Amino acid sequence: MIPTLPDSLELSPEQFRNLVEMALDQLVPHLAGVADLPLDGTAADPDATTIMAASLRQALPASGTDPRALLADLVGRVVPHSFTTISPGFMAYVPGGGLLHAAVADLVADTLNRYVTVWRAAPGLAEIERTVGRWLCDIIGFPASALGVLTTGGSLGGLSALITARRARFGDAEFRHAVIYTSDQVHHAVTKAAVQIGFAPLQLRSIPTDDAYRMRLDALAAAVAADRAAGRVPFLVVASAGTVHTGAVDDLRGVADLARREQLWLHVDAAYGGFFCLTARGREAMAGIEAADSVVLDPHKGLFLPYGTGALLVRDAAALQRAFGGWASYLPRPDAGWDGLDLCDVSPELSRDFRALRLWLPLKLHGIDAFRAQLDEKLDLARWAADALRAVPGIDLVAEPQLSLLAFRLVRPGRTEAELDALNRALLDRINARQRVLLSGTTLGERFVIRMCILSFRTHRERVDEAVTIVREVVRELASG
Ligand SMILES: *Cc1c(COP(=O)(O)O)cnc(C)c1O
Repeated sequence: MIPTLPDSLELSPEQFRNLVEMALDQLVPHLAGVADLPLDGTAADPDATTIMAASLRQALPASGTDPRALLADLVGRVVPHSFTTISPGFMAYVPGGGLLHAAVADLVADTLNRYVTVWRAAPGLAEIERTVGRWLCDIIGFPASALGVLTTGGSLGGLSALITARRARFGDAEFRHAVIYTSDQVHHAVTKAAVQIGFAPLQLRSIPTDDAYRMRLDALAAAVAADRAAGRVPFLVVASAGTVHTGAVDDLRGVADLARREQLWLHVDAAYGGFFCLTARGREAMAGIEAADSVVLDPHKGLFLPYGTGALLVRDAAALQRAFGGWASYLPRPDAGWDGLDLCDVSPELSRDFRALRLWLPLKLHGIDAFRAQLDEKLDLARWAADALRAVPGIDLVAEPQLSLLAFRLVRPGRTEAELDALNRALLDRINARQRVLLSGTTLGERFVIRMCILSFRTHRERVDEAVTIVREVVRELASG
Protein backbone atom coordinates (compact mmCIF):
# COMPACT_ATOMS: atom_id res chain seq x y z
CA MET A 1 0.00 0.00 0.00
CA ILE A 2 1.23 3.51 -0.77
CA PRO A 3 1.31 5.57 2.42
CA THR A 4 -0.39 8.98 2.32
CA LEU A 5 2.01 11.81 2.94
CA PRO A 6 1.32 13.92 6.02
CA ASP A 7 2.43 17.16 4.40
CA SER A 8 1.84 17.45 0.74
CA LEU A 9 4.04 19.75 -1.34
CA GLU A 10 0.90 21.30 -2.75
CA LEU A 11 0.06 24.58 -1.03
CA SER A 12 -3.60 25.11 -0.32
CA PRO A 13 -5.07 28.33 -1.77
CA GLU A 14 -4.79 29.91 1.68
CA GLN A 15 -1.24 28.74 2.19
CA PHE A 16 -0.22 30.12 -1.21
CA ARG A 17 -1.84 33.46 -0.52
CA ASN A 18 -0.31 33.57 2.95
CA LEU A 19 3.16 32.75 1.71
CA VAL A 20 3.00 35.50 -0.90
CA GLU A 21 1.73 37.89 1.75
CA MET A 22 4.50 36.89 4.13
CA ALA A 23 7.01 37.67 1.42
CA LEU A 24 5.36 41.03 0.81
CA ASP A 25 5.38 41.72 4.55
CA GLN A 26 9.18 41.61 4.33
CA LEU A 27 9.62 43.25 0.95
CA VAL A 28 7.36 46.25 1.27
CA PRO A 29 9.07 47.72 4.37
CA HIS A 30 12.47 46.88 2.87
CA LEU A 31 11.60 48.87 -0.23
CA ALA A 32 10.17 51.72 1.80
CA GLY A 33 13.54 52.17 3.50
CA VAL A 34 15.80 51.36 0.59
CA ALA A 35 16.83 54.93 -0.22
CA ASP A 36 18.38 55.28 3.22
CA LEU A 37 20.09 51.90 3.50
CA PRO A 38 23.90 51.96 3.48
CA LEU A 39 25.12 51.50 -0.09
CA ASP A 40 27.72 48.92 0.85
CA GLY A 41 26.38 46.79 3.66
CA THR A 42 29.53 44.66 3.66
CA ALA A 43 31.79 47.55 4.64
CA ALA A 44 30.36 48.60 7.99
CA ASP A 45 31.43 45.53 9.93
CA PRO A 46 33.34 42.99 7.81
CA ASP A 47 33.52 40.52 10.69
CA ALA A 48 29.76 40.54 11.09
CA THR A 49 29.43 39.95 7.36
CA THR A 50 31.79 37.00 7.52
CA ILE A 51 29.85 35.51 10.44
CA MET A 52 26.55 36.05 8.67
CA ALA A 53 27.85 34.37 5.48
CA ALA A 54 29.31 31.44 7.42
CA SER A 55 26.01 30.95 9.23
CA LEU A 56 24.37 30.05 5.92
CA ARG A 57 26.61 27.06 5.26
CA GLN A 58 24.04 24.65 6.59
CA ALA A 59 23.28 21.01 5.95
CA LEU A 60 20.43 19.93 3.69
CA PRO A 61 17.38 20.28 5.92
CA ALA A 62 15.56 17.07 6.73
CA SER A 63 12.38 18.80 7.81
CA GLY A 64 10.63 22.11 7.43
CA THR A 65 11.03 25.56 9.02
CA ASP A 66 8.53 28.29 9.75
CA PRO A 67 8.22 30.41 6.56
CA ARG A 68 7.77 33.73 8.32
CA ALA A 69 10.98 33.31 10.29
CA LEU A 70 12.88 32.17 7.20
CA LEU A 71 11.81 35.15 5.11
CA ALA A 72 12.42 37.57 7.96
CA ASP A 73 15.91 36.17 8.42
CA LEU A 74 16.69 36.46 4.73
CA VAL A 75 15.50 40.01 4.26
CA GLY A 76 16.28 41.32 7.72
CA ARG A 77 19.61 39.67 8.55
CA VAL A 78 21.22 38.36 5.34
CA VAL A 79 20.36 40.97 2.72
CA PRO A 80 21.65 44.03 4.63
CA HIS A 81 25.18 42.64 4.17
CA SER A 82 25.29 43.47 0.48
CA PHE A 83 25.68 46.28 -2.01
CA THR A 84 22.31 48.00 -2.11
CA THR A 85 22.04 47.70 -5.86
CA ILE A 86 18.41 48.86 -5.83
CA SER A 87 19.23 52.14 -4.06
CA PRO A 88 19.04 55.46 -5.92
CA GLY A 89 22.64 55.96 -4.77
CA PHE A 90 23.96 52.94 -6.64
CA MET A 91 26.13 54.31 -9.45
CA ALA A 92 28.89 51.71 -9.42
CA TYR A 93 29.68 49.19 -12.18
CA VAL A 94 26.57 49.23 -14.39
CA PRO A 95 23.51 49.62 -12.18
CA GLY A 96 20.85 46.98 -12.53
CA GLY A 97 17.23 47.82 -12.07
CA GLY A 98 14.62 45.85 -10.22
CA LEU A 99 11.26 46.95 -11.61
CA LEU A 100 8.66 45.49 -9.31
CA HIS A 101 6.37 44.67 -12.22
CA ALA A 102 9.02 42.22 -13.35
CA ALA A 103 8.99 40.54 -9.95
CA VAL A 104 5.24 40.13 -10.24
CA ALA A 105 5.68 38.83 -13.79
CA ASP A 106 8.09 36.22 -12.43
CA LEU A 107 5.55 35.14 -9.85
CA VAL A 108 2.93 34.77 -12.58
CA ALA A 109 5.31 33.04 -15.00
CA ASP A 110 6.63 30.61 -12.39
CA THR A 111 3.18 29.81 -11.07
CA LEU A 112 1.86 29.07 -14.56
CA ASN A 113 5.11 27.23 -15.32
CA ARG A 114 4.23 26.56 -18.95
CA TYR A 115 6.80 25.32 -21.41
CA VAL A 116 7.73 28.13 -23.76
CA THR A 117 10.69 26.72 -25.67
CA VAL A 118 8.53 24.64 -27.97
CA TRP A 119 5.83 26.69 -29.69
CA ARG A 120 3.37 23.82 -29.83
CA ALA A 121 3.41 23.49 -26.02
CA ALA A 122 2.28 27.08 -25.32
CA PRO A 123 1.67 28.97 -28.58
CA GLY A 124 0.49 32.20 -26.98
CA LEU A 125 3.35 32.41 -24.51
CA ALA A 126 5.88 31.46 -27.20
CA GLU A 127 4.46 34.32 -29.28
CA ILE A 128 5.00 36.68 -26.35
CA GLU A 129 8.65 35.59 -26.25
CA ARG A 130 8.95 36.20 -29.98
CA THR A 131 7.12 39.52 -29.82
CA VAL A 132 9.33 40.86 -27.05
CA GLY A 133 12.35 39.85 -29.14
CA ARG A 134 10.79 41.74 -32.06
CA TRP A 135 10.27 44.84 -29.91
CA LEU A 136 13.97 44.82 -29.03
CA CYS A 137 14.84 44.52 -32.72
CA ASP A 138 12.59 47.51 -33.44
CA ILE A 139 14.34 49.55 -30.75
CA ILE A 140 17.70 49.24 -32.49
CA GLY A 141 16.25 49.36 -36.00
CA PHE A 142 16.81 45.77 -37.14
CA PRO A 143 14.88 44.59 -40.24
CA ALA A 144 12.05 42.04 -40.36
CA SER A 145 14.56 39.25 -41.07
CA ALA A 146 16.01 39.69 -37.59
CA LEU A 147 15.24 37.76 -34.46
CA GLY A 148 15.66 38.61 -30.80
CA VAL A 149 16.16 35.96 -28.16
CA LEU A 150 16.22 36.60 -24.44
CA THR A 151 19.19 35.25 -22.53
CA THR A 152 20.11 35.38 -18.88
CA GLY A 153 22.49 38.29 -19.44
CA GLY A 154 24.94 40.03 -21.72
CA SER A 155 27.68 37.47 -21.23
CA LEU A 156 25.57 34.59 -22.52
CA GLY A 157 24.18 36.85 -25.24
CA GLY A 158 27.71 37.58 -26.42
CA LEU A 159 28.68 33.93 -26.21
CA SER A 160 25.70 32.98 -28.38
CA ALA A 161 26.53 35.79 -30.81
CA LEU A 162 30.06 34.51 -31.28
CA ILE A 163 28.84 30.95 -31.77
CA THR A 164 26.31 32.18 -34.34
CA ALA A 165 28.95 34.16 -36.22
CA ARG A 166 31.44 31.32 -36.17
CA ARG A 167 28.96 28.80 -37.50
CA ALA A 168 27.73 31.24 -40.14
CA ARG A 169 31.28 31.68 -41.42
CA PHE A 170 32.92 28.33 -40.82
CA GLY A 171 30.13 25.80 -40.30
CA ASP A 172 31.82 22.60 -39.18
CA ALA A 173 35.15 23.61 -40.71
CA GLU A 174 38.09 24.47 -38.52
CA PHE A 175 38.77 28.11 -37.70
CA ARG A 176 42.38 28.09 -36.63
CA HIS A 177 43.28 31.02 -38.89
CA ALA A 178 40.25 33.15 -38.04
CA VAL A 179 40.90 36.46 -36.29
CA ILE A 180 38.58 38.44 -33.99
CA TYR A 181 39.00 42.20 -33.49
CA THR A 182 37.86 44.13 -30.44
CA SER A 183 38.93 47.47 -29.01
CA ASP A 184 41.18 47.64 -25.99
CA GLN A 185 38.09 48.79 -24.05
CA VAL A 186 36.00 45.70 -24.78
CA HIS A 187 34.16 44.02 -21.92
CA HIS A 188 36.04 40.97 -20.72
CA ALA A 189 32.89 38.88 -21.21
CA VAL A 190 33.54 39.07 -24.96
CA THR A 191 37.12 37.85 -24.87
CA LYS A 192 36.11 35.23 -22.33
CA ALA A 193 33.38 34.02 -24.70
CA ALA A 194 35.80 33.81 -27.62
CA VAL A 195 38.16 31.66 -25.60
CA GLN A 196 35.28 29.52 -24.30
CA ILE A 197 34.28 28.58 -27.84
CA GLY A 198 37.75 27.59 -28.85
CA PHE A 199 39.57 30.66 -30.12
CA ALA A 200 43.14 30.88 -28.93
CA PRO A 201 44.17 34.18 -27.34
CA LEU A 202 46.54 34.59 -30.32
CA GLN A 203 43.48 34.85 -32.58
CA LEU A 204 42.23 37.96 -30.77
CA ARG A 205 43.39 41.46 -31.67
CA SER A 206 43.04 44.33 -29.23
CA ILE A 207 42.71 47.52 -31.29
CA PRO A 208 43.83 50.76 -29.63
CA THR A 209 41.32 53.52 -28.94
CA ASP A 210 41.36 57.29 -29.46
CA ASP A 211 41.29 59.94 -26.74
CA ALA A 212 37.54 59.39 -26.29
CA TYR A 213 38.16 55.63 -25.84
CA ARG A 214 36.63 54.72 -29.22
CA MET A 215 38.12 52.05 -31.42
CA ARG A 216 40.57 53.57 -33.90
CA LEU A 217 39.36 52.72 -37.38
CA ASP A 218 42.78 53.28 -38.94
CA ALA A 219 44.32 50.81 -36.49
CA LEU A 220 41.51 48.33 -37.17
CA ALA A 221 42.01 48.60 -40.93
CA ALA A 222 45.76 48.17 -40.52
CA ALA A 223 45.35 45.10 -38.30
CA VAL A 224 42.94 43.49 -40.77
CA ALA A 225 45.32 44.18 -43.67
CA ALA A 226 48.28 42.77 -41.75
CA ASP A 227 46.38 39.60 -40.90
CA ARG A 228 45.27 39.12 -44.50
CA ALA A 229 48.81 39.64 -45.72
CA ALA A 230 49.95 36.96 -43.27
CA GLY A 231 47.39 34.49 -44.64
CA ARG A 232 45.04 34.67 -41.69
CA VAL A 233 41.26 35.04 -41.99
CA PRO A 234 39.79 38.25 -40.53
CA PHE A 235 36.38 37.13 -39.39
CA LEU A 236 34.62 39.17 -36.75
CA VAL A 237 34.80 42.64 -35.26
CA VAL A 238 33.20 43.54 -31.95
CA ALA A 239 32.24 47.19 -31.55
CA SER A 240 31.12 48.65 -28.25
CA ALA A 241 28.02 50.79 -27.80
CA GLY A 242 28.84 51.96 -24.31
CA THR A 243 32.01 50.50 -22.84
CA VAL A 244 31.98 49.45 -19.23
CA HIS A 245 35.08 51.58 -18.48
CA THR A 246 33.86 54.99 -19.64
CA GLY A 247 30.64 54.46 -21.61
CA ALA A 248 32.43 55.10 -24.92
CA VAL A 249 30.47 54.41 -28.08
CA ASP A 250 32.55 53.33 -31.05
CA ASP A 251 31.95 54.92 -34.44
CA LEU A 252 29.46 52.22 -35.34
CA ARG A 253 28.83 53.50 -38.86
CA GLY A 254 32.57 53.62 -39.52
CA VAL A 255 33.11 50.12 -38.14
CA ALA A 256 30.08 48.85 -40.10
CA ASP A 257 31.49 50.25 -43.37
CA LEU A 258 34.82 48.64 -42.72
CA ALA A 259 33.16 45.36 -41.74
CA ARG A 260 31.16 45.33 -44.97
CA ARG A 261 34.23 46.08 -47.10
CA GLU A 262 36.25 43.40 -45.34
CA GLN A 263 33.38 40.92 -45.05
CA LEU A 264 33.61 40.72 -41.30
CA TRP A 265 30.71 39.82 -39.05
CA LEU A 266 29.92 42.91 -37.01
CA HIS A 267 28.86 42.24 -33.45
CA VAL A 268 27.88 45.24 -31.33
CA ASP A 269 28.13 44.88 -27.59
CA ALA A 270 25.39 47.26 -26.48
CA ALA A 271 24.75 45.52 -23.16
CA TYR A 272 25.05 48.78 -21.27
CA GLY A 273 24.26 51.41 -23.91
CA GLY A 274 21.79 49.81 -26.30
CA PHE A 275 18.53 51.00 -24.78
CA PHE A 276 19.63 54.62 -25.13
CA CYS A 277 18.62 54.06 -28.77
CA LEU A 278 15.18 54.94 -27.44
CA THR A 279 16.34 58.55 -26.99
CA ALA A 280 17.23 61.01 -29.74
CA ARG A 281 20.72 61.61 -28.35
CA GLY A 282 21.42 57.92 -27.86
CA ARG A 283 20.15 57.15 -31.34
CA GLU A 284 22.57 59.70 -32.76
CA ALA A 285 25.50 58.38 -30.72
CA MET A 286 24.74 54.84 -31.87
CA ALA A 287 23.98 55.60 -35.51
CA GLY A 288 25.00 52.57 -37.53
CA ILE A 289 24.01 50.00 -34.91
CA GLU A 290 21.26 48.87 -37.29
CA ALA A 291 23.97 47.73 -39.73
CA ALA A 292 25.33 45.14 -37.28
CA ASP A 293 24.99 41.41 -37.81
CA SER A 294 24.33 40.86 -34.12
CA VAL A 295 23.71 43.03 -31.09
CA VAL A 296 23.64 42.27 -27.39
CA LEU A 297 21.37 44.29 -25.10
CA ASP A 298 20.91 43.91 -21.36
CA PRO A 299 17.34 44.64 -20.29
CA HIS A 300 18.58 44.15 -16.72
CA LYS A 301 20.57 47.34 -17.25
CA GLY A 302 18.89 49.74 -19.65
CA LEU A 303 15.31 48.58 -19.18
CA PHE A 304 15.67 48.49 -15.39
CA LEU A 305 14.72 44.82 -15.05
CA PRO A 306 15.96 42.60 -12.24
CA TYR A 307 19.19 40.69 -12.94
CA GLY A 308 18.85 37.70 -15.20
CA THR A 309 17.64 39.22 -18.46
CA GLY A 310 19.86 39.81 -21.46
CA ALA A 311 19.11 39.67 -25.15
CA LEU A 312 20.79 38.63 -28.36
CA LEU A 313 19.49 40.13 -31.58
CA VAL A 314 20.65 38.65 -34.88
CA ARG A 315 19.99 40.33 -38.22
CA ASP A 316 19.54 37.06 -40.09
CA ALA A 317 17.31 34.71 -38.09
CA ALA A 318 18.47 31.81 -40.27
CA ALA A 319 21.99 32.21 -38.86
CA LEU A 320 20.63 31.54 -35.39
CA GLN A 321 18.88 28.44 -36.66
CA ARG A 322 22.09 27.21 -38.28
CA ALA A 323 23.91 27.69 -35.00
CA PHE A 324 21.35 26.27 -32.59
CA GLY A 325 18.79 24.29 -34.57
CA GLY A 326 18.14 20.73 -33.57
CA TRP A 327 15.24 18.42 -33.02
CA ALA A 328 14.64 15.18 -31.18
CA SER A 329 11.96 12.57 -31.44
CA TYR A 330 10.86 13.02 -27.83
CA LEU A 331 9.83 16.67 -28.31
CA PRO A 332 6.26 17.66 -29.27
CA ARG A 333 5.81 17.62 -33.02
CA PRO A 334 4.88 20.88 -34.77
CA ASP A 335 1.42 20.95 -36.32
CA ALA A 336 1.09 21.06 -40.08
CA GLY A 337 0.96 24.61 -41.38
CA TRP A 338 2.14 26.24 -38.18
CA ASP A 339 4.45 29.23 -38.38
CA GLY A 340 5.46 29.35 -34.76
CA LEU A 341 9.04 29.64 -33.61
CA ASP A 342 10.59 27.05 -31.34
CA LEU A 343 12.94 28.95 -29.07
CA CYS A 344 15.06 25.87 -28.63
CA ASP A 345 15.83 26.09 -32.36
CA VAL A 346 17.46 29.50 -32.01
CA SER A 347 19.15 29.34 -28.63
CA PRO A 348 21.38 26.93 -26.73
CA GLU A 349 18.73 26.51 -24.04
CA LEU A 350 15.98 23.91 -23.92
CA SER A 351 13.94 24.08 -20.72
CA ARG A 352 13.87 27.60 -19.40
CA ASP A 353 11.71 30.14 -17.65
CA PHE A 354 9.02 32.21 -19.37
CA ARG A 355 11.49 35.09 -19.41
CA ALA A 356 9.70 37.45 -21.75
CA LEU A 357 6.91 38.14 -19.30
CA ARG A 358 9.32 40.24 -17.23
CA LEU A 359 9.64 42.66 -20.14
CA TRP A 360 6.18 42.24 -21.57
CA LEU A 361 4.33 43.14 -18.38
CA PRO A 362 6.09 46.44 -17.57
CA LEU A 363 6.18 47.46 -21.24
CA LYS A 364 2.46 46.75 -21.67
CA LEU A 365 1.61 48.45 -18.39
CA HIS A 366 3.56 51.66 -19.05
CA GLY A 367 4.32 51.84 -22.75
CA ILE A 368 7.80 52.53 -24.07
CA ASP A 369 7.63 56.31 -23.60
CA ALA A 370 7.96 55.95 -19.85
CA PHE A 371 11.26 54.13 -20.40
CA ARG A 372 12.39 56.65 -22.99
CA ALA A 373 11.76 59.49 -20.54
CA GLN A 374 13.74 57.73 -17.80
CA LEU A 375 16.68 57.16 -20.11
CA ASP A 376 16.59 60.75 -21.32
CA GLU A 377 16.71 61.85 -17.70
CA LYS A 378 19.81 59.70 -17.10
CA LEU A 379 21.56 61.37 -20.05
CA ASP A 380 20.73 64.78 -18.55
CA LEU A 381 21.92 63.72 -15.10
CA ALA A 382 25.26 62.48 -16.42
CA ARG A 383 25.76 65.70 -18.39
CA TRP A 384 24.92 67.72 -15.31
CA ALA A 385 27.20 65.66 -13.05
CA ALA A 386 30.06 66.03 -15.51
CA ASP A 387 29.73 69.82 -15.51
CA ALA A 388 29.49 69.95 -11.73
CA LEU A 389 32.48 67.64 -11.21
CA ARG A 390 34.60 69.58 -13.69
CA ALA A 391 34.07 72.62 -11.50
CA VAL A 392 35.56 70.87 -8.45
CA PRO A 393 39.15 72.09 -8.03
CA GLY A 394 41.61 69.32 -8.91
CA ILE A 395 39.06 67.07 -10.63
CA ASP A 396 39.96 66.06 -14.16
CA LEU A 397 37.10 64.69 -16.18
CA VAL A 398 38.90 61.81 -17.85
CA ALA A 399 35.88 60.71 -19.87
CA GLU A 400 32.98 62.96 -20.76
CA PRO A 401 29.64 61.16 -20.72
CA GLN A 402 28.86 59.84 -24.19
CA LEU A 403 25.80 58.25 -22.59
CA SER A 404 25.16 58.11 -18.81
CA LEU A 405 28.62 57.05 -17.62
CA LEU A 406 31.55 59.31 -16.88
CA ALA A 407 35.01 58.91 -15.41
CA PHE A 408 37.05 61.35 -13.39
CA ARG A 409 40.20 61.59 -11.38
CA LEU A 410 41.77 63.89 -8.86
CA VAL A 411 45.06 65.35 -10.06
CA ARG A 412 47.73 67.17 -8.09
CA PRO A 413 50.71 68.80 -9.75
CA GLY A 414 54.07 67.20 -9.12
CA ARG A 415 52.70 63.81 -8.05
CA THR A 416 53.86 60.57 -9.64
CA GLU A 417 51.35 58.29 -11.34
CA ALA A 418 51.61 55.84 -8.45
CA GLU A 419 50.88 58.59 -5.95
CA LEU A 420 47.91 59.75 -8.00
CA ASP A 421 46.54 56.23 -8.15
CA ALA A 422 46.80 55.94 -4.36
CA LEU A 423 45.18 59.35 -3.98
CA ASN A 424 42.26 58.36 -6.20
CA ARG A 425 41.79 55.02 -4.48
CA ALA A 426 41.62 56.93 -1.21
CA LEU A 427 39.15 59.35 -2.75
CA LEU A 428 36.91 56.51 -3.91
CA ASP A 429 37.09 54.78 -0.53
CA ARG A 430 36.12 57.96 1.28
CA ILE A 431 33.27 58.73 -1.11
CA ASN A 432 31.86 55.25 -0.63
CA ALA A 433 32.43 55.34 3.13
CA ARG A 434 29.74 58.02 3.35
CA GLN A 435 27.32 55.23 2.31
CA ARG A 436 25.07 57.56 0.32
CA VAL A 437 26.40 56.71 -3.11
CA LEU A 438 28.44 53.82 -4.41
CA LEU A 439 30.91 54.55 -7.20
CA SER A 440 33.50 52.18 -8.62
CA GLY A 441 36.88 52.39 -10.27
CA THR A 442 38.67 51.06 -13.29
CA THR A 443 42.01 51.50 -14.99
CA LEU A 444 42.54 53.30 -18.27
CA GLY A 445 45.92 52.37 -19.54
CA GLU A 446 47.78 52.34 -16.25
CA ARG A 447 45.77 55.08 -14.56
CA PHE A 448 43.19 54.38 -11.89
CA VAL A 449 40.03 56.42 -12.43
CA ILE A 450 36.68 56.71 -10.70
CA ARG A 451 33.53 56.06 -12.68
CA MET A 452 29.97 57.15 -12.11
CA CYS A 453 27.28 55.28 -14.01
CA ILE A 454 23.75 56.64 -13.73
CA LEU A 455 21.21 54.08 -14.83
CA SER A 456 18.79 53.23 -12.05
CA PHE A 457 15.15 54.23 -12.49
CA ARG A 458 15.36 55.32 -8.86
CA THR A 459 18.26 57.73 -9.40
CA HIS A 460 17.17 61.32 -9.86
CA ARG A 461 18.71 64.77 -9.62
CA GLU A 462 18.66 64.88 -5.83
CA ARG A 463 20.96 61.89 -5.39
CA VAL A 464 23.29 62.94 -8.19
CA ASP A 465 23.53 66.33 -6.50
CA GLU A 466 24.42 64.58 -3.29
CA ALA A 467 27.06 62.50 -5.07
CA VAL A 468 28.74 65.62 -6.44
CA THR A 469 28.59 67.32 -3.03
CA ILE A 470 30.25 64.28 -1.46
CA VAL A 471 33.01 64.28 -4.07
CA ARG A 472 33.60 68.00 -3.47
CA GLU A 473 33.74 67.53 0.32
CA VAL A 474 36.06 64.53 0.19
CA VAL A 475 38.41 66.30 -2.23
CA ARG A 476 38.59 69.15 0.28
CA GLU A 477 39.18 66.69 3.14
CA LEU A 478 42.03 65.04 1.25
CA ALA A 479 43.61 68.41 0.59
CA SER A 480 43.59 69.38 4.25
CA GLY A 481 44.46 65.95 5.63
C1 LIG B 1 27.28 44.19 -18.40
C2 LIG B 1 28.05 44.09 -19.66
C3 LIG B 1 28.40 42.85 -20.20
C4 LIG B 1 28.13 41.55 -19.48
O1 LIG B 1 26.77 41.35 -19.34
P1 LIG B 1 26.15 40.52 -18.10
O2 LIG B 1 24.71 40.81 -18.22
O3 LIG B 1 26.78 41.08 -16.87
O4 LIG B 1 26.50 39.11 -18.31
C5 LIG B 1 29.03 42.84 -21.42
N1 LIG B 1 29.33 43.98 -22.06
C6 LIG B 1 29.04 45.19 -21.56
C7 LIG B 1 29.40 46.41 -22.32
C8 LIG B 1 28.38 45.28 -20.35
O5 LIG B 1 28.08 46.48 -19.83
